[in-house]
Amino acid sequence: LTALADEALNTFENIVDGAQALSVPTLRLGVTGLSRAGKTVFITALVHNLVHGGRLPLFEAAASGRLARAFLQPQPDDAVPRFDYEAHVDTLLDERVWPQSTRQTSELRLTIEYESATFLKTMLGRGRLHLDIVDYPGEWLLDLPLLNKDFSTWSREALERARDPARNTLADDWLRALAATDPAMEAEETRARDLAARFTAYLAACRADDHAFSLLPPGRFLMPGDMEGSPALTFCPLDLESGGSAKRGSLHAMMERRFEAYKKHVVRPFFREHFARLDRQIVLVDTLAALNAGPAAVRDLEAALAGILSCFRPGRNSWLSGILVRRIDRILFAATKADHLHHADHDRLEAILAKLVEKAVARAEFAGAEVEVTALAAIRATREAQVRQDGTTLPAILGTPLPGERLDGETYDGTSEIALFPGDLPNDPAAIYEASTGPSPDLRFIRFRPPKLERTAEGLTLSLPHIRLDRALQFLVGDKLA
Ligand code: GDP
Repeated sequence: LTALADEALNTFENIVDGAQALSVPTLRLGVTGLSRAGKTVFITALVHNLVHGGRLPLFEAAASGRLARAFLQPQPDDAVPRFDYEAHVDTLLDERVWPQSTRQTSELRLTIEYESATFLKTMLGRGRLHLDIVDYPGEWLLDLPLLNKDFSTWSREALERARDPARNTLADDWLRALAATDPAMEAEETRARDLAARFTAYLAACRADDHAFSLLPPGRFLMPGDMEGSPALTFCPLDLESGGSAKRGSLHAMMERRFEAYKKHVVRPFFREHFARLDRQIVLVDTLAALNAGPAAVRDLEAALAGILSCFRPGRNSWLSGILVRRIDRILFAATKADHLHHADHDRLEAILAKLVEKAVARAEFAGAEVEVTALAAIRATREAQVRQDGTTLPAILGTPLPGERLDGETYDGTSEIALFPGDLPNDPAAIYEASTGPSPDLRFIRFRPPKLERTAEGLTLSLPHIRLDRALQFLVGDKLA
């Protein structure tokens, strides 16, 4: 009954939202991606460019001079933390370090004033659009399939994945502890905690740079938000005999109850309160990190992206379609950090991401959403140059490596600029599945410091440089400013 009341309240809130939107149109833009994909940097750069009149030639409203102004306003949802835009800008510009990454859901309202492109609308005066930007961890989307699984099915699948040769050594410690645990033993908090901690450590090891796996549910184990340490997160899959049900008071029964609590108190509310109200979505993907870690990471990323996309065509999940009032009509997949490559490779990066989402996208288009793929750098930390080496001219990128970054036996202190030949991406996107295991020897990536902002002769600070951020804006918002 409570669930029904919840659902009804949710529908009511959505209707109220809709009514409010009648006065000034509102567009709720979801920004997601797995941890460190670039969500925080993307939102900061997007807002900064709109507020400070950045160079956005592919964003039609800006290019044609119709963008009057953009400014921040109080967000509509009081219970959601505000995206800390000002602090992030200060960190980027004053300290030249990257801001603190996304750890939970946050929101920001940007109001855009524009001159309409059509004569009739111009007569009505300036147009206004509230762009509500909702930042949330992509890990949480990957929890959706849990809703259709019971504890024993989930345990079986999680164990199969952990025993896969690509992950086995990382899971070794947790698997040994499981082997020494009888699920029928009496429920004990310390044992549950110990197993959950080892399971979480296994997931974290899978996520680390050298493996860069993506499909690591439950999402809150690596990205707990405000739930760190709570009992709803103190469980893990168990090695169960098939068909056996949990004995009262057993460890099995305890883990099962917590798994169900996780679905009820964590997964469902997230989808209901945040996801169900989005109009448009950008999914940021650190494609380069997966390429750098090798084919196992690439395949895992592909599976995670299919999982993320399945949330956007909820027909397959009747619970989710039941709570959706709005419909997401545009989804943009963006390979981030394109400034790590020479521009000749940007299209290749795009083609690789397109390949990774190809099958899943075909199904989403069928469901009525428009999907596009792009490569971008929300903040461009490098410049391009031609460097002569041994009599030949090579395309290079110039940037200041972050302090502590290492490449070719050298450790950088973050003070001076270097030239780097990042290596080329394969021409045929299918090649990403073929390389031998381990980091690809042809690609060299290193993290750079954010750029120094240049000032004009009049002393004005220019907005943050980017690559194809304007193209993303055009697809996500452009048609609403007609
Ligand atoms: P989040 O976890 O999705 O919020 O990820 P962030 O936005 O915090 O980005 C994670 C890290 O990726 C940053 O600290 C930067 O090092 C790097 N990064 C993100 N976007 C860019 C970009 O456009 N260019 C460059 N060079 N690095 C980026």
